[in-house]
Amino acid sequence: MPDGIVTAANDALPHYADVDVLVIGGGNAGLAAALSARAGGAASVLVVESAPRDFRAGNSRHTRDLRCMHNEPTKVMSGKYGADEFYNDILSVTGGKTDEALARMTIRKSAECPAWMAGHGVRFQHALEGTLQLGRTNAFFLGGGKAMMNAYYDAAEQAGVRVLYDAEVTNLRFAGSRFQSADVLLAGRGVSVTARAMVAASGGFEANLDWLKEAWGPAADNFLVRGTPYNKGKVLRLLLDHGAASVGEAKAAHMVAIDARAPKFDGGIVTRLDCVSLGVVVNNLGLRFYDEGEDFWPKRYAIWGRLVAEQPDQIAHCIIDSKATGKFMPSVFPPDRADSIEELAKKMRLPVSAVKSTIDAYNQAVQPGTFNHDKLDDCHTSGLQPAKSHWALRIDQPPYFGYGLRPGLTFTYLGLKVDQRARVLMATGLPAENIFAAGEIMVGNVLGKGYAAGVGVTIGTVFGRIAGEEAAKMTKASIPAARTFKGGIENVAA
Ligand SMILES: Cc1cc2nc3c(=O)[nH]c(=O)nc-3n(C[C@H](O)[C@H](O)[C@H](O)COP(=O)(O)OP(=O)(O)OC[C@H]3O[C@@H](n4cnc5c(N)ncnc54)[C@H](O)[C@@H]3O)c2cc1C
Repeated sequence: MPDGIVTAANDALPHYADVDVLVIGGGNAGLAAALSARAGGAASVLVVESAPRDFRAGNSRHTRDLRCMHNEPTKVMSGKYGADEFYNDILSVTGGKTDEALARMTIRKSAECPAWMAGHGVRFQHALEGTLQLGRTNAFFLGGGKAMMNAYYDAAEQAGVRVLYDAEVTNLRFAGSRFQSADVLLAGRGVSVTARAMVAASGGFEANLDWLKEAWGPAADNFLVRGTPYNKGKVLRLLLDHGAASVGEAKAAHMVAIDARAPKFDGGIVTRLDCVSLGVVVNNLGLRFYDEGEDFWPKRYAIWGRLVAEQPDQIAHCIIDSKATGKFMPSVFPPDRADSIEELAKKMRLPVSAVKSTIDAYNQAVQPGTFNHDKLDDCHTSGLQPAKSHWALRIDQPPYFGYGLRPGLTFTYLGLKVDQRARVLMATGLPAENIFAAGEIMVGNVLGKGYAAGVGVTIGTVFGRIAGEEAAKMTKASIPAARTFKGGIENVAA
């Protein structure tokens, strides 16, 4: 038994550590909370992370950017992105399903995020140029999310935050609405950790296929999970079962259309396909089902996973012609390719005559216009259902290309209701005494549905910081003094 196991058993589990602040989950939200708790004066901060060290940092290691308001150009974002414009973007993607006070606070505090992150070693690219259309609204991490998270972990180590890997929280113990301890499966052995405050930052339940099936039925079998296999929603379920108020619906999620050949878990961003707005999308019956050119792709990519999930066999197929080549991010797997639509449909195992009729009808409906992928151009269809509102060019220039699309689940929105202090609210309406939440586990407070690129990291950073600061305050509150681990954990970290 390692030296650091300190006191008596909790329900027969060896007591591993007693800390000021326990952070569950080692992604962006968890590390923001841990760093802020230390900076806020918590003497001992422990992060428990399900994954082994090499796979730490959950979905955050897949990220590239965050969305921030700013009133003038900065080194990392061009132009201006004001609070009202940001809020209108949230309103438009959520259709009004947002908590205005929490959303506006997130937006206000997003302005501080790049500097705070840079202060913890995160490096940013210069403001983006090119076809992604995000250079004004989003700051991009140099080296992506993995570099960002590595910087955070280094900063945490320097700040004296302790991290346990291969440490899955399997149970939580409470006294009323006060968190007391967590049962942790640490490298296969059950131990108990007590803390004066706890931050739940353990992501959504997108990797829990049984929970997904409760919401979606057997269709969930055909979903691909873009991120970590470790976000199973265990902590979320335990807190909800204990009477925490929930927010969001079980089916609400960020789900994008990704390459149907992507792996079941952890495929990351490279499996995304950004050609939808340049082509036509049909289902297994060879029929179109939605406006491919409704709005800019960064504002629309997150609805396409759900659209595909609602099609027969949860699959769809994007067809483009050679005019689209070079106008979207290259795909990681090569597309099917053919010199005629019929040949392409055959290769893609689609009903040939249905696909041909769909493309013919589409081509006939395309109106003359001036193609411009950088704006909502005037290239649209007329008399076609569903319409294609922008970037509608005839699909008539071989070779033709086709990609299978599957729903790629990024993260779920059903979560814990919180207040502006990141306190978890109980179903009674009162805040839990010493429990805070940040990141995907509470994202549904701001996002009832839909998504604006980069807002996941923004929410995690803003609420992670608040949760950490608030949790640190608990350590100065009147709860009996916690035993700090005074280096003991170092001897036992997995
Ligand atoms: C492919 C991909 C690309 C993305 N790109 C972006 C982007 O560019 N910008 C953006 O804003 N958002 C992006 N997102 C969404 C983004 O990842 C999240 O909103 C944000 O990073 C989530 O942070 P988090 O800390 O809440 O969760 P995570 O980073 O997923 O961290 C949760 C952690 O909790 C751990 N955990 C889970 N259960 C337990 C348990 N029981 N015990 C202990 N630990 C547990 C997990 O191992 C995980 O490390 C992307 C997501 C994916 C999948």
